[in-house]
Amino acid sequence: MTRMKSGNGSSDSDELVVDLPKLQRNLGVPAEISSEWKPDSVETTHSNAILIQVNISLEAVSDKVTANGTAILHWTAQCRRCLEATSGRTSIDINEIFEKGAFEGETFELPLGEKLDLRPMLAEQAMLNLPLAALCSETCTGPTDTEFFTTSTPSNIGENPGEFKDPRWAVLDQLKFSDD
Ligand SMILES: [Zn+2]
Repeated sequence: MTRMKSGNGSSDSDELVVDLPKLQRNLGVPAEISSEWKPDSVETTHSNAILIQVNISLEAVSDKVTANGTAILHWTAQCRRCLEATSGRTSIDINEIFEKGAFEGETFELPLGEKLDLRPMLAEQAMLNLPLAALCSETCTGPTDTEFFTTSTPSNIGENPGEFKDPRWAVLDQLKFSDD
């Protein structure tokens, strides 16, 4: 297994191009792939994939290759309410099969050559998991100039309530607003 390489980013995904003959010589012996990839153009209108971290096990089984594991998709997006930039991570379960004469939408084509490039498969998975209507937070109420002074305290702020409490807000808490 190779650790992450430092560098210019263009060669950081070498491990995602797999030597097929080597894999197929070891039938039933999984190859662990641990890598990351910064795709150039995996994006929707309002969101971008910026990094995909991959931890998968590749295995040649008769004339097929199976890929099982996890990809962590790091994305940036525009909040659909306030239009500010936001970002997040999505964990994707990878359970795919590469085979000759693949079924569209079900399996991936096993290439004729000696190299199996996992990136098109990962790009497809990332596309399917990019947020189409992201929110910067569950409680985003929209543009700050119309709904800045909200009085209700949200009781449920998604899965990371700890991250939501920005210490800078403590300063605002101490300000007193008066209408008279
Ligand atoms: Zn927002």
